[in-house]
Amino acid sequence: MFNAKHVDQLRRIVGKDNVLATQEELLAYSYDATNMWQHLPDVVVLPTNANQISDILKLANESRIPVTPRGGGTNVSGGSIPIKGGIVLCTTRMNRIIEINRTNLNATVEPGVILQDLQEALAKEGLFFPPDPQSAQGCTMGGVVAENSGGPSCLKYGVAKQYVLGLEVVLADGRIVKLGGLTPKNRTGYELAMLFTGSEGTLGVISKITLRLLPSQKSSQTIVAVISDVAVAGETVTEIIASGVLPSKVEFVDNWTFEKFRGLLPDEILDKSQVILLIQVDGLPETVEAEAQQVVDICQSRAGEVKVAQNQAEADRYWQARTAHFSDISSRTHTIVNEDVSVPRDKIADFIKLGQESAKKYDVPISFAGHVGDGNFHPVVLTDSRNKEHYNRSLKCVEEIIEIALSLGGVLSGEHGIGLEKQRFLKKAMDPAAIEIMKAIKDVLDPNHILNPGKIWEETSD
Ligand SMILES: Cc1cc2nc3c(=O)[nH]c(=O)nc-3n(C[C@H](O)[C@H](O)[C@H](O)COP(=O)(O)OP(=O)(O)OC[C@H]3O[C@@H](n4cnc5c(N)ncnc54)[C@H](O)[C@@H]3O)c2cc1C
Repeated sequence: MFNAKHVDQLRRIVGKDNVLATQEELLAYSYDATNMWQHLPDVVVLPTNANQISDILKLANESRIPVTPRGGGTNVSGGSIPIKGGIVLCTTRMNRIIEINRTNLNATVEPGVILQDLQEALAKEGLFFPPDPQSAQGCTMGGVVAENSGGPSCLKYGVAKQYVLGLEVVLADGRIVKLGGLTPKNRTGYELAMLFTGSEGTLGVISKITLRLLPSQKSSQTIVAVISDVAVAGETVTEIIASGVLPSKVEFVDNWTFEKFRGLLPDEILDKSQVILLIQVDGLPETVEAEAQQVVDICQSRAGEVKVAQNQAEADRYWQARTAHFSDISSRTHTIVNEDVSVPRDKIADFIKLGQESAKKYDVPISFAGHVGDGNFHPVVLTDSRNKEHYNRSLKCVEEIIEIALSLGGVLSGEHGIGLEKQRFLKKAMDPAAIEIMKAIKDVLDPNHILNPGKIWEETSD
């Protein structure tokens, strides 16, 4: 159990400037990007190296103090909420890009490096790390790996796990372990680095990351299609993918966020439409041109308006409007219930139709947006938690939407993880034997359950 003497011990480990313990400071680390979860930690520590993390964990393990790893706190599943109090171990002061190696096409970074800082540093070298969560300005590389994050570019390039070559991880008992390595091929024993990728801070604290990189793409084009009907938009995406073009991004926003596109697209078309598809193709200039034309041809038969961005500045404006979706929709109401299901691509239109019917049945406003090209949707129900009756209807709607996704062969979370937000659905979505295996792994690596306790599975089922 945590007590005041632990604060002094932590100050001795990381230095007094790297321990935060006032009420105001604790409050700042009591929430993440979800809107219904909050819990105060007892203390926040900001280590600056792996040895300090090791000493913090040894202390916590001996005294059975919960430790919640945290990067930017941008996750939307409650993953970094210190739900049991104790220590928040925040890595944002471990923010060095240790090496970018053009010859080996890899980079080694500390976990607190902000994704956008890494993207900018890589771009200067003509290199590219594709996973691009729309929170790039605030999320850290530790969070990206611990959540196995995705984003628009994952349609063509895959999610974070496809780029993790090696990890240094500090285990609950303080051991510092090196997993994987520097080479793209490595068949040495079990893929233990993958075990920690997507483990949501429950198995160890990631203290160093080596990433596989790609050369930057030579060119890209952005195509915007404004479509009158949601289901038609779903069918359009299915057809694009089936036609043999693999765009780097196919994003979907519905008319809840059309305001962000005013001035970029004709008002009269926006006023009578339901969906904007934002598509990017990339590669060599000749390929890009041919692929963009193929996408335009498919969209033209279904869309009220199809535009190809004339230059990068115009393309950037469309993508900025897309990136603003989450903050825009959040500003429309007191509470949002934000989902993150993923369905097979040939079920996209069915999923949207059934999701809309569910929202009608529960009489709640719903917005659909997401990385539709890989079937990953973020339906958002707009509600107000102060109105219990409305809020409960919203939760029921979301529950039904999850059921719909699962019944179509989809998954509970495409990229946001389980955390606190989705643990009540885990039993429905995962083989019970697989849950038992996860718990057994947890017991081996963290027998005292100090690391991010209360996450992923419900404790009643422990
Ligand atoms: C506006 C917005 C847009 C978003 N868009 C996307 C998107 O497109 N795609 C997507 O996948 N996600 C998206 N997210 C979710 C989120 O930003 C990502 O999951 C992100 O990678 C989290 O990084 P973070 O540093 O903020 O992690 P945090 O929120 O601090 O932590 C996330 C989880 O990782 C664990 N963790 C953090 N650091 C470590 C570490 N060093 N070692 C072990 N565990 C650790 C935490 O315990 C927690 O469980 C979005 C969020 C917002 C608010």
